[in-house]
Amino acid sequence: MADFAMLIAVMTGLEDKVLKDKALNIKLQKSILYQKNKLNKEFLDAQRIRAARYYIKNREKVLERQRIYDKINGDKKVIRNHVRRAKQKGSFGNYTSIDIKVMIEAQGYQCLYCKIELEMHGDNKYHIDHRMPLTLGGANDISNIQILCPKCNMRKGRTCPDVYEKRIGYVGVVAC
Ligand SMILES: [Zn+2]
Repeated sequence: MADFAMLIAVMTGLEDKVLKDKALNIKLQKSILYQKNKLNKEFLDAQRIRAARYYIKNREKVLERQRIYDKINGDKKVIRNHVRRAKQKGSFGNYTSIDIKVMIEAQGYQCLYCKIELEMHGDNKYHIDHRMPLTLGGANDISNIQILCPKCNMRKGRTCPDVYEKRIGYVGVVAC
């Protein structure tokens, strides 16, 4: 449409005016966007300050609500984080919170490595571990997922699983 308007303008000798109008229009749009962003930023800053004040006053209430939210939403936050990291590393695969529940059940509610009982909530809640780390080219697929206690997951870090399992003497499932 704009090109058509320009064609007409060139034909009728109004080219300069159209160009000027265009430039003015862009300037105007930019200024509107700037104002909008500025207002948005001011709004967000105010909102952040309000949230921080509320948190200081109602810390326990906020934390309790967060705990309830985490209980209801289970592993969604971790799964989202894994999907994002997998994308960055170009890994394939996906898994769901149901997959995790099934896996925990299959592991008998125990850490795969040290056999300690897995905690379902709180600070020591089980960790969803990529057996072959995403950083080493592991998939974000359920076949590459195992459930560990936080301690074992932290110790394993980004070590190659074969090396780590040999070090701790973990044999795993022996095929017959
Ligand atoms: Zn463990």
